[in-house]
Amino acid sequence: MKGIEFFTSLEDLDSESKYLAHKAKEATAHSYAPYSKFCVGAASVFEDSSIISGANQENAAYPLCMCAERVALYAASALHPEKRIMKMAVVAHKKNHKDLVPATSCGSCRQVLLEFEGRQHQPIEVIMLGPDKKWIKAPSAASLLPFSFSKEALDG
Ligand SMILES: [Zn+2]
Repeated sequence: MKGIEFFTSLEDLDSESKYLAHKAKEATAHSYAPYSKFCVGAASVFEDSSIISGANQENAAYPLCMCAERVALYAASALHPEKRIMKMAVVAHKKNHKDLVPATSCGSCRQVLLEFEGRQHQPIEVIMLGPDKKWIKAPSAASLLPFSFSKEALDG
């Protein structure tokens, strides 16, 4: 877990991370989670300081559900392919509850974040609330996904 930092309170994070966590919480308003009732929001900041967000989108056919992180990342790629993503915050709360609950990115989202890092030749910082209710600030998706599969394996 190289370079990963932990914070007891969101207030202890830098102002950009706090703002991004706030935007991620706002994004949960667009969560479609009638099955899990677990609303997740993700917000990313581009290098020009503009922000794009996403929320989880569920489906009666469960395997088709999509995480907030990938909704935001794919929207970023589709709408602003020229912009690099600097940081992403992910937050979650249960439906009809305001308090945030721990939610760390799943392996699939970490893998997709890693692909974006490769595409843009720049790491993406990740902010999320860990299982012990400590805020996690990871310097990159790569730091969250050791021994990952990458295009180098295909090239080799
Ligand atoms: Zn995910």
